[in-house]
Amino acid sequence: MPVKFYIIFITLISYSSSYAQQLFIPLEFQSAYEDNTRSPDGKPGIDYWQNHADYKIKVNINTETGILSGSEDIIYYNQSPDTLDKLVLRLYPNIFKKDAMRDFPYKSAEDQYGLKISQLNAGKKSYNAETDTSLEYTGTNLIIKDIIILPGKQINLKLSWDFKIPGEEGIRMGRYKPDVFFVGYWYPQISVYDDIDGWDLTEYTGNAEFYNDFNNYDVNITVPNNLGVWATGDFLNPPEVLSQKILLKYNEALNSDSLVNIISMQDLTADMPLFSSLAETNTWHFSSKNIPDFTFGIAAHYLWDGKTADGGGGKKVFVNTVYDQTSIGFIEICDLAVKSVEMLSKELPGIPYPYSKITLFNGRGGMESPMMENLSAGNQRIWNVYNTVHEVTHSYFPFYMGINERKYAWMDEGWSQMLSEYIQYELDKTIDFRERNVNRYLDYSGQFDEIPMMYPSNMIRGEMYINHAFFRPANAYNILKDFMGDISFKKSLQEFIKRWNGKHPSPYDFFYTFEDVTDDELGWFFEPWFFKHGYPDLAIDTAFVKDDALKIQITKEGDLPIPVALTVKYKDGSVKQAYRTASVWKNEDSDEIWIDFDSDIKPAYIELGSKYIPDADTTNNYWNFK
Ligand SMILES: [Zn+2]
Repeated sequence: MPVKFYIIFITLISYSSSYAQQLFIPLEFQSAYEDNTRSPDGKPGIDYWQNHADYKIKVNINTETGILSGSEDIIYYNQSPDTLDKLVLRLYPNIFKKDAMRDFPYKSAEDQYGLKISQLNAGKKSYNAETDTSLEYTGTNLIIKDIIILPGKQINLKLSWDFKIPGEEGIRMGRYKPDVFFVGYWYPQISVYDDIDGWDLTEYTGNAEFYNDFNNYDVNITVPNNLGVWATGDFLNPPEVLSQKILLKYNEALNSDSLVNIISMQDLTADMPLFSSLAETNTWHFSSKNIPDFTFGIAAHYLWDGKTADGGGGKKVFVNTVYDQTSIGFIEICDLAVKSVEMLSKELPGIPYPYSKITLFNGRGGMESPMMENLSAGNQRIWNVYNTVHEVTHSYFPFYMGINERKYAWMDEGWSQMLSEYIQYELDKTIDFRERNVNRYLDYSGQFDEIPMMYPSNMIRGEMYINHAFFRPANAYNILKDFMGDISFKKSLQEFIKRWNGKHPSPYDFFYTFEDVTDDELGWFFEPWFFKHGYPDLAIDTAFVKDDALKIQITKEGDLPIPVALTVKYKDGSVKQAYRTASVWKNEDSDEIWIDFDSDIKPAYIELGSKYIPDADTTNNYWNFK
């Protein structure tokens, strides 16, 4: 068969064998299937494409003024079949401007001017960033409107710019102490142009996080010589910027499976420079390929620990922590991160860790970026465990997977929340986070403003965003895993990751891949849990003894299918249990099932549910025999 016909034949076959066709498919997704950029079996289509850029950035930090100035050379590659007639640049620091649109109140302690561009060249044209009429500023986006980039061609951009790093109240970046900075969401970045939406014009307003192409970065960061720099990517010039003693310990840590104090307490108190003192400033050089973002941290008197983790598939991962000596909770973070890397790469998802290193930097809160985490640690170990595992898990979702978190935050936070649970529990049993995720979801479940996952995340504000991004999806994934079984679930998840890493999977690519791998129809589960308003609620409708059997009728009162867990207590004190996964509700015609128990001994009491099953109304979960 000629290749072309063969492909059409295969496409038709897979179309007809695709199960979840009953799900609502928006028109822009239907177009993607017609254009073969996506495939109805959940694989990337034969004509899948994706754009990307090379970034060369030089950064200077003035610690007197707190101003970060940068110059940037970008080559942007148009791999799409479309002629691009504009270019969209994200100017993230504009979120700090006084009149910026934000998802939550933000009190800036100082006037912020946002990101000021002093030089802008695109192609052969030079622009006056303030007056050129072909530039349109829409908040945090800058649209260059007089650009033409043909399919398969590229464009060169050259920019110079500066912004003031916000204080400790900053959003995803800040100057936490006079000599401690974390810098993320910072450089002018080309937005994503994809096969579903074209240009991503989403404004950066605070809630929604990543949606980036996979780019190459080469970044030089110049700081006064008392400051160290930790960043995404390979650290290219340690001998130039580290003092001899620190360099030796750094090299030792790169190959050590026990913890090395690269900068120890003694180093901090000794009267010797930690970094090169040959000049007033040092330039730290990092590079990384095929990665969705670049961030960095800067500190003067931080401790630095490091060791290697087994990242699966024979891969060594350098795990390192950089932290304030008063942050006692941080001492253990390196070991917690090593354990997270090893469990994620070997158990679930069981895919080798995506990066050669990860740095956990003692800044504020908990915020992921590729190979870097901005993290604080408190006195309660359980929350340090929770945060560390959660942020390390983000290495897979959204980074390895290129998720559009701005629209589908549940494909990132939901997975991270769910995949973290077993590691968090292994590391600290004070809180069972699977149970907590059930209870947190129940705080919102069934309310009018509890929004199903398939509503775009960037339209949801406040508390409900948290449920939409974290808790409802974590429960949906757990119930899916429960009825699929661990082996089938893991196989499907791994296949989804293998198909889509380094790309931009949509929700449908997730739904269809799981159906494709299991060869089963899952729309009965995906539709209520991901597309519809509703809540989970089972009830004991009736129970009686007849013909030597205890017969119990369970009804599905709510729209969302959940497992059935029954506990029967008999009058002699004995207990019997029964369990059915959510797949008992697969037959949509029936909202009731019967479960039979022995009745040799008289039953006293029946209880429905378990701590891992969300049930929005438990008043109908009990039955007492007289
Ligand atoms: Zn997260």
